[in-house]
Amino acid sequence: MAKKTIADVDPSGKTVLMRVDFNVPQDDSGQITDDRRIRMALPSIESVMKRGGRLVLMSHLGRPKGTGAEPKYSLALTAKRLSELLGQPVAFASDTVGSDAQSKISALKDGEVVVLENLRFNAGEQAGDAEFASKLAGWADIYCNDAFGTCHRTDASMVAVPKAMGSKPKVSGFLVAKEIQYLSETISNPERPFVAILGGAKVSDKINVIDNLLGICDYVLIGGAMAYTFSLAGGGKTGKSLVEKDKVELAKELIAKGGKKLVLPVDTHCGDDFSASCNKQVVKAGEIPDGWEGLDIGPQTAKNYAELLKSAKTVVWNGPMGVFEMPPFDEGTKTVAKAIADSQATSIIGGGDSAAAVEQLGFADQVTHVSTGGGASLSMLEGDKFEAVELLDEA
Ligand code: AMP
Repeated sequence: MAKKTIADVDPSGKTVLMRVDFNVPQDDSGQITDDRRIRMALPSIESVMKRGGRLVLMSHLGRPKGTGAEPKYSLALTAKRLSELLGQPVAFASDTVGSDAQSKISALKDGEVVVLENLRFNAGEQAGDAEFASKLAGWADIYCNDAFGTCHRTDASMVAVPKAMGSKPKVSGFLVAKEIQYLSETISNPERPFVAILGGAKVSDKINVIDNLLGICDYVLIGGAMAYTFSLAGGGKTGKSLVEKDKVELAKELIAKGGKKLVLPVDTHCGDDFSASCNKQVVKAGEIPDGWEGLDIGPQTAKNYAELLKSAKTVVWNGPMGVFEMPPFDEGTKTVAKAIADSQATSIIGGGDSAAAVEQLGFADQVTHVSTGGGASLSMLEGDKFEAVELLDEA
């Protein structure tokens, strides 16, 4: 399902409406605390500007009520930061489909850019409203989607706008193109052995991911607290570990479906309290004593997983192996991260905590792809098709 990208169209003298993800973290006074999302959008933005396109950027920020402007969620500061990063002026429109957007967009010259105000100030955005979308689409000759983090959503800017563009070009930006390449194309046509490694707090968040990956992987390795629900399903003792009793039947089904493909921990690093300074011991999986809780995979499990990862040709990782924020219970996650970094495999790191772990441990440069989307990357790993992506022109 390769899609046309912004590199495949000629934006010269044309107006390009680009959906970006400028949903940056802010402090209480509204200052941007991390501008990574703006920096990551630069390749697509610069590609249009350098080729003489007129660029209209749209995004959401935070969760405003959808009943009009809320200063705290204004995108004005992102326009300012973008201007600093580009080293040239960036216009800002105080609305999205109103008179200010109209006049700022008409004033654009080739190679110039305007950021529209927060899409979510208009209730039509999250409602996927066709009228709101057709006004947005009316600004442009070309539509570009470079907002992977919202690709699993059906907001107006993601779905109704490309629909309203009719036969005009609809392409992906470079960020979205890369996410599709790895999370969809590589995974559906993997080099084998294909090993998935899944961890994190709750099995309930990842049931569909495990289910989908059991259908395509050679091995699915389980870590994190979700392993204890599987342990319960196998009749093991889990002490006071985090478990989901209502998911035990589901875990049994996954064990039956997975057979030898589903690999569970053989030992557990546990503590008598949820703290770094607790008393610690390593026990066999399923033998966690009363009053103790599993906080990481044990050293033998970490070794087994590292060994399996060594010969893998494709690896997908989502979710830490233990409470990696609290040493020494970061050891399992570290061993797995290092094994992935050392392997020759195409390695894809799902968003959220595993992406943070890889960054924090300094391995981000040694893996093939670190996904930027939390919910969106999980959804893609579940095998979901995104309407926002399907609507883009085929390459
Ligand atoms: P998730 O967002 O589902 O990927 O879960 C990530 C969180 O799971 C991290 O904050 C970890 O600290 C937590 N976690 C992983 N293993 C355990 C465990 N054995 N007990 C409690 N929390 C865990």
